[in-house]
Amino acid sequence: MIVSTFGFAGNPGSPSFVRVELRFERGILFRISGFSSQAARASHARIRSALIACGQRWPGKAITVNLAPAELSRTSTAFDLPIALAILASRGVIPASALTLKASAGELGLDGSIRPWQTSIFENRINITSPLSDSNKIKTLISPPLSGYSEPIFPHETFTHLSDLIAYFKSPTQSKNSSNNSKLLLKASSTITIQTQSESTFENIQGEETAKRKAIIAAAGSHDLIMLGPPGSGKTVLAKCIHSLLPDLSPKHHSECTSIHAAAGHLFNPNSKRPPWQSPHSSTNLNGLIGSWSTLKSRGVIPGSWSLAHHGVLFLDEFAEFSRGTLEACRSPLESHTISLVRAAGSSELPASALLIAALNPCPCGRGTGRVKSCSCQESEIKRYLRKVSGPVADRIAIHLELGHELTEPSTASTSAMSWTSARATVARIRKWNLEHHGDDRFSHGPQMTPKAADLLHSCRTVLKLSHRGLHHVRNVALTAALVDDSPSIELEHIAEAGASRLFDRKTWLR
Ligand SMILES: [Zn+2]
Repeated sequence: MIVSTFGFAGNPGSPSFVRVELRFERGILFRISGFSSQAARASHARIRSALIACGQRWPGKAITVNLAPAELSRTSTAFDLPIALAILASRGVIPASALTLKASAGELGLDGSIRPWQTSIFENRINITSPLSDSNKIKTLISPPLSGYSEPIFPHETFTHLSDLIAYFKSPTQSKNSSNNSKLLLKASSTITIQTQSESTFENIQGEETAKRKAIIAAAGSHDLIMLGPPGSGKTVLAKCIHSLLPDLSPKHHSECTSIHAAAGHLFNPNSKRPPWQSPHSSTNLNGLIGSWSTLKSRGVIPGSWSLAHHGVLFLDEFAEFSRGTLEACRSPLESHTISLVRAAGSSELPASALLIAALNPCPCGRGTGRVKSCSCQESEIKRYLRKVSGPVADRIAIHLELGHELTEPSTASTSAMSWTSARATVARIRKWNLEHHGDDRFSHGPQMTPKAADLLHSCRTVLKLSHRGLHHVRNVALTAALVDDSPSIELEHIAEAGASRLFDRKTWLR
């Protein structure tokens, strides 16, 4: 007899249903299709010990487990639970029919405890994709307790011990109180490592009206920003202000953040809807920033700071101090908002739609300002220092900002006096509009560019020597600026303002 049920595979943020089929055969071998013999042996040891701990007998037969579809990564320990249930159904301990419309995931402890799966995410049905045609009939998900404030959309049962789960299958109506125990266990065992962020407002910044306006534009349009300023010029405060300007996470986005943080072994803000804030130190290596494959085969990918900041802010202070390789690796998430981790056994894609805020001193000693030389650094040293972040990386960042002295660039008086409350409301209004309008649709439905503004955009390319990408940024930032002003059209000053945000593109500026 073949017993069939469902499990999960895939990446945090995009889990997928996998069919688990199990059959007893002659012999003693334990095989799982697609698993190495080492991973299958480890799985066998856990499941066998857990079943025996629950008073069950291990079948004296060979067991073959098939996982479909074959191309999905399936080295996960999350298959312990569906395999154990399929063994119990094959032995007639629980009804096999009860498994066909259920999906389960969880790692088994030797004592029968059910441990959280690293990539556990079931809060949101929308996130679960499946190439299996019959998976849309799945009625219930079974797993260890999950973090997250949102109520699961999908019918969901949580258990912390296999013996509770066996009792549930034997008599589903009598043993549904297990979720209470689960919550207690979660509280006791969770290692909570959340980077919390108290709210910063513009009241923490003196003057710098241009910078405040750029902060609103960056937060509203999700424009990545790089700022240059001497120590104490308020770079960190401004970054925190941008984070504070972002609206609360939707339940769907909160759910995505929860799953990514779970993959890294963190519990993500269960009681707060605030978007994530990540500020890794400049000594962070490539793996820490971008993510990596775990050396433990069963764990799959470990998200880096960029993915942990998904839907929030990634603040990279002392940007020029990051290693060259790490800076180069920023190019892909800046462009595609995803991170591809490739290895011999396959590749994995991590979501990385974070708002990047990079900050750096104007020169190695910190006192210079790029244009006015007031420090003791050699010109060649400054060139080397700034070259590290200019070029391909800065080209992909929409807004370049210089702090420490006001620039002589157009800034609309109305927004410079904007209150914190109206700034937050403006950001929320534009972000909502951006969700409803994509790509060129934003330019056809949003404020229209005046002929004078269009002329200036054209001349930007030659005068500022902008790259194609730089020009694209100017157009996008100008649109957001017009939306911030609630202007019916993209005016000359919006283009001028956005063009002035391309510091690193100016060859003369780099000397
Ligand atoms: Zn210097």
